[in-house]
Amino acid sequence: MTAPTLPGLEPAPTPVAPRPGSRAARMALPRSIDVLKDIAIEYGVCVRPLAMRRTDLDTGLTEVIDLPCGATREDKCPPCAKKNRRLRQAQIREGWHRNDEPLPGPEPATEAQKSLVLFRAHLEFSRDEALRAAQWDQVTDLDEAIREVEEAITAEGLRGRVGPPHASDDEGQDDEPGPRRKRSTKRRQDAPELPRRKVERRTVGKTYIAPDGSTYQPSMWLTLTLDSYGPVRPDGTPVNPARYDYRRAAWDAVHFPRLLDQFWQNLRRCEGWNVQYAGCVEPQRRLAPHAHFVIRGTIPRDVLRTVAAATYHQVWWPSVDVQRYTLDRLPIWDEQAAAWVDPDTREPLTTWTEALDIIDDDPDAEPVHVVRFGSQVDARGVMPGTEDAERTIRYVTKYITKHTGDCHKATTDRQRKHLDRLWQQLQLTPCTDRCANWLLYGIQPKKAHAKLKPGRCKGKVHQRDTLGIGGRRILISRDWSGKTLADHKHDARAWVRALLGVTTDGTQLVDNQGDTTERIRHAWELARPDDPDVGPMTHRLMRSISERARWRSELLAAKDRAAQESLDLSATQHSAQHDGEETQ
Ligand SMILES: [Zn+2]
Ligand SMILES: [Zn+2]
Repeated sequence: MTAPTLPGLEPAPTPVAPRPGSRAARMALPRSIDVLKDIAIEYGVCVRPLAMRRTDLDTGLTEVIDLPCGATREDKCPPCAKKNRRLRQAQIREGWHRNDEPLPGPEPATEAQKSLVLFRAHLEFSRDEALRAAQWDQVTDLDEAIREVEEAITAEGLRGRVGPPHASDDEGQDDEPGPRRKRSTKRRQDAPELPRRKVERRTVGKTYIAPDGSTYQPSMWLTLTLDSYGPVRPDGTPVNPARYDYRRAAWDAVHFPRLLDQFWQNLRRCEGWNVQYAGCVEPQRRLAPHAHFVIRGTIPRDVLRTVAAATYHQVWWPSVDVQRYTLDRLPIWDEQAAAWVDPDTREPLTTWTEALDIIDDDPDAEPVHVVRFGSQVDARGVMPGTEDAERTIRYVTKYITKHTGDCHKATTDRQRKHLDRLWQQLQLTPCTDRCANWLLYGIQPKKAHAKLKPGRCKGKVHQRDTLGIGGRRILISRDWSGKTLADHKHDARAWVRALLGVTTDGTQLVDNQGDTTERIRHAWELARPDDPDVGPMTHRLMRSISERARWRSELLAAKDRAAQESLDLSATQHSAQHDGEETQ
């Protein structure tokens, strides 16, 4: 680049190359370590591998093996993040248009299993009787017996617990003394005004038959957005920052996941079948979260709109209208009272339980916040196997390798100020019922303790670059593909192995999902980067790159061979057919 010429000055002489051997000349050369990293990224080799020491249990020989770090974010490791995105895409693809149930129901219970559950029921009855008769020693004995039977039930191959544990054998279940709190009817979520049907177990959408007899089973794509907080410019910043509702934006962002849960629940009840989805939460340019989903099967667009409009989530938390403390005058922990107290009067602050009781006793109480969707609900049908379907999957997973804060980088002053104003609100907004920020509002959060930092909660949503999106960003319903991400990973490797003709490569550590059919031959441990047998990171990177480059050409050759073989095969078939015709 040439320096700009100031008016009235002689134009700068054409730039000359820096003197050979000068510092400038040296700095103009690319650094070899950067080139190495770039090549690693190009070849899909993890740039911050984990060194694992593998000991062969038969021979006692050890070997250090690099395993990919498995990062999901590009800023940590681009190759691993890309690989993770490909797996997510595979997962979405596999569940989206399937026309059979991914998880057929469980197998019927055996007689042995049934009799154990029956036995457990008898114990429950006896425990109840002993409890009424105040025969405490018997209750203890029965609790012991119950524990044993429950273990036997698990060992017999049943999933989950028969019933919740009794209070005596699970401490910390409810920390509040006295009779168990009854949940107030007031703080219950109101039911939305929607038709309600019994939800069938079906997760697969309808199949349609065209006049020509061919069947097709379309699926859907859906975007759910939050409400407006005030008009915004194309760069996402508010037209009038003073009128933009940052408080509502912050609360909505924090409670968005609950709103989405509520939406799927309402939709399933309204539609009467177990609708499945896979999608992603990400920020819009205005920095509010929205969510893209692919849905298996079709649902009329107006039903989606009606359900979205009727869905809301009420937050029954104490009021945050008055901020009673600020960072320069904060409540303090009183060791003796085991409570947070006012710094001047030493009065204990309202406890969480008391605060909720106040809400319950107030006939006019209203939820402190209600989250709703905005009116913009985009949905359309997508046919399986089309370029449109692939494009949609890419669109849904577009930002999953990025940090929330990196999806729309603030590049102008106006954008940075907008982000700062939102962050200011997020810092004050309580993230959960245990958030240390409740202390600012004169309330001790649930399970308050001495280590809380009033107004400086460590919760994710208070951090600037999360934009209040603190939870999981990838949302996949339970019966989507019937597989976990680890299962999909396994599939991808199996495919590559089959192509290369490798049956076992010995490094099955990450793949071993509990199947113990293979004899355990190796013990693994994490090696420390400064262990003498680990070696410098750059050496390890070079080895991995070389290995990957050779592996890649082998894979390409195998593909070519496979293609050539099928070509040869069809050629022979064709010529055979041809011969047949000629002899006729
Ligand atoms: Zn990595
Ligand atoms: Zn918090």
